[in-house]
Amino acid sequence: MTQPTTGPGAPSDEQQAESASRPGDDFPSAELWWRGIAKLATVAAAGTGAGLIFARPALGALLAILAYGLLQLRQLIRLRAWLHAPKRYFLPDIGGLWGEVFDLLIDLQRKNRKRKKKLSLMLAEFQASTAALPDGAVVLGERGEISWFNTAARQLLGLRAPQDLGIRVPNLIRHPSFTEFFEKGDFEHETEAPSPLNRNRLLSLRIIPYGNEQKLLIVRDISERRQLEAARRDFVANASHELRTPLTVLRGYLDLMDMDTHGSGPLASWRSPVQEMRNQALRMEALVNDMLKLARLEGERAHMREEVLQVPMLVARAVEEARAVSKGQHRFEQQVAADLLLLGGETELYSVIINLLTNAVRYTPSGGVIRVSWERRHGNACFAVADTGIGIAAEDIPRLTERFYRVDVGRSRASGGTGLGLSIVKHALECFDATLEIESELGVGSTFICVFPPHRIAEPSGDALPAALSDGGKP
Ligand code: ADP
Repeated sequence: MTQPTTGPGAPSDEQQAESASRPGDDFPSAELWWRGIAKLATVAAAGTGAGLIFARPALGALLAILAYGLLQLRQLIRLRAWLHAPKRYFLPDIGGLWGEVFDLLIDLQRKNRKRKKKLSLMLAEFQASTAALPDGAVVLGERGEISWFNTAARQLLGLRAPQDLGIRVPNLIRHPSFTEFFEKGDFEHETEAPSPLNRNRLLSLRIIPYGNEQKLLIVRDISERRQLEAARRDFVANASHELRTPLTVLRGYLDLMDMDTHGSGPLASWRSPVQEMRNQALRMEALVNDMLKLARLEGERAHMREEVLQVPMLVARAVEEARAVSKGQHRFEQQVAADLLLLGGETELYSVIINLLTNAVRYTPSGGVIRVSWERRHGNACFAVADTGIGIAAEDIPRLTERFYRVDVGRSRASGGTGLGLSIVKHALECFDATLEIESELGVGSTFICVFPPHRIAEPSGDALPAALSDGGKP
């Protein structure tokens, strides 16, 4: 394994310099030994010399060595006292081996102090910068216990120091959506929950795992953003709703006028303009209805009714409707798992099925085949509509679910499209936590697959329908 050159695991310049000067195998211990032995020999010789004066050289040597030993003991005691309380005692500058040891220790202490100061400065800077963040930041330990939080977290979550330090965060943010999010441990997405301090404030909560099982919880107040979104949605919904009544009146009169344009009716010469006006009124009606549907779907996510949906029956109903649009020009094939049911809202699911089916009819030339399937795949439930139509270029696929995005505007309008169909599909699928996959090849055909996660699958309670239905080529 290679050693990192940068980042938290890499050695700092200081560490590198230290390790370079740190004694290793080539530590000059032999030289120190010789110096020590030489000193001892000198002491012994001096003692012997002094002993000779009293004709007791051995005693002289012994006493000198003993005095030398006591001196060493004194330095050792001094060192111990200093290590115990470095501020109370000081290490004298005595030279020799002990002097060198004292100098090295004092140097080490100075370096440590410098490093500590640097670290405290860094910590203070980090705390000051995170305290200034408008988002709440909470550092969590291995079990989710709070070890630090900034001012914004205090204001958004009502955390208190030191009372809340060490307490597991799910015990403080008790909303079910957060508890489930935290216990699940899938932190790829964020979750939302009301502030424990004020139910009217909506918070977005994101968890970023880092280091050794540690986590950073980022909290953001999204109430204002949500209010703006709701205001925009309400405006579109209200405007669409308000437009409906005048449009219905206009269409009613245009229908009446259309009848009078036939044969030798009073408006025979107005036939073409009246028909065009009627077509445009119908288009506007479809547009207003789709805009209303989309606005409702956007606000629906949290309030969708949860019922067991008889998907096979809904599919059969939508196929009949698509057949009416197709007017016998396409062949429909179905592969439907009769015992596979879903949990969710019927209106939302029907929007998905009918939009995909009518698109398949509208973008598949006469004589083409439309295959509908509803089945289990890898534990998920998949609804797919495949056609042998005009297909879609790869670069257009990622943009198809954008509002009013059409590959060919003329063709879409001519076939009665509003440009909102796939947008509606996407939003309706979000209500089910489902995703849309699109596979297509120009001139060959397209497949739209809706993938519903396992928790949306409902257990059938009644009699099962026939396992697979197919009209075997019946148009
Ligand atoms: P529109 O009302 O225009 O059909 P949609 O949102 O339903 O709007 O679809 C967006 C665009 O995606 C369409 O304009 C069309 O270009 C393309 N599209 C959708 N379904 C198909 C399909 N089955 N085959 C080919 N193109 C498709």
